[in-house]
Amino acid sequence: MVWQKPRFTSIIENMVEKAIPKVIPIRIDEGKGLMPSIGTQLIAAHGNTQDSRGRILRDLRISVTDRCNFRCTYCMPKEVFDQNYPYLSHKELLSFEEIARLTSIFSTLGVEKIRLTGGEPLLRKNLEVLIEMLSQVRSPTGEALDLTLTTNGSILRKKAAALKAAGLQRLTVSLDGLDDSIFKKMNDVDFPVADVLDGIAAAQEAGFENIKVNMVVKKGTNDHEIVAMAKHFKGSGVILRFIEFMDVGSSNGWNMAEVLASKEVIARIHEVFPLEAIEANYNGEVAQRWRYVDGSGEVGVISSVTQTFCHECSRARISTDGQMYLCLFANEGFDFKTLLRSGKSDLEIANAIMNTWAARDDHYSEIRGSNTANQSTGSRKVEMSYIGG
Ligand code: SAM
Repeated sequence: MVWQKPRFTSIIENMVEKAIPKVIPIRIDEGKGLMPSIGTQLIAAHGNTQDSRGRILRDLRISVTDRCNFRCTYCMPKEVFDQNYPYLSHKELLSFEEIARLTSIFSTLGVEKIRLTGGEPLLRKNLEVLIEMLSQVRSPTGEALDLTLTTNGSILRKKAAALKAAGLQRLTVSLDGLDDSIFKKMNDVDFPVADVLDGIAAAQEAGFENIKVNMVVKKGTNDHEIVAMAKHFKGSGVILRFIEFMDVGSSNGWNMAEVLASKEVIARIHEVFPLEAIEANYNGEVAQRWRYVDGSGEVGVISSVTQTFCHECSRARISTDGQMYLCLFANEGFDFKTLLRSGKSDLEIANAIMNTWAARDDHYSEIRGSNTANQSTGSRKVEMSYIGG
């Protein structure tokens, strides 16, 4: 048999030849992760598995597609995610039934909150069918899960009512500015701000409350939009949150000089609209909350670079093809798809999850270096569009 160069290797080599500056072999060996260990003695599923740093599993983020209709320069830059990019094929994705089964197993382990993400989750066909399935899952004490979704808002006008009817409880919409030219430059597909704002309006009309809007702040690119965004959403019932530009993945050419610290974001807003700090809603909430002194709502900041929160991280992630990742900045996952497709029982899978979580030791943000990829070891982090933001 003639040896054939793996598909990803040749794509990467082509990119190097074309001198594209940021090369990212994110699925270098076709997405197969480590095999999780079920262990020899099965124990009853329980919701207090601690990892090696004492962190308890509470949240699950599920990426339902690795595709997106935006090419945000900090997430899925055009130079890399072009027509040659090896997106997953349909059979590689977890099916709705597999996602629902896994969610239900995670709920027996104390997971209370599910966030669907991607890629752009609304691009997954019939997503509302999955939402309906997930809305039926009950915790061991009989409660429904907190079911939420993060979207770029581009097709929310079309989808909002169906999502609400299917049982989606909450929504986060990403929006990086109000200035059309800046926003178009950042999404890099010429998508207008007005259509995202219209999507948010459609979600409000459909009955979604306390919608969150996430703005990734890149110093020198959109930081001058901070106060305009605050002004726009102040008093609207929408909770605006500012995210520090993170070094997720290996493709966005991250550089600390482009990070604007959250405390600076708050200072800029406070100068115009006075703010005061308020308590977190619950332990482990990633956003720090601030409210307008005049009572017209709140904003939040997610300071994953300047004030890390690894020590209270309760999140696991399932990639589009069923790999479990323990950290947004991980470079390998655990292959739960193979486990799901190999006839294992729910209890065996629950044990594999507990063992995987118990061995967790990552705290990437606390020890982050100054570069996106670790130049000395050449190790690369998985992309956010695949693992789910
Ligand atoms: N397509 C959906 C969306 O736009 O919200 C969901 C996926 S997206 C990867 C999830 C979130 O991650 C978005 O709010 C996006 O702005 C954020 N994000 C992506 N890359 C980021 C980065 N390098 N730093 C900070 N946030 C990032």
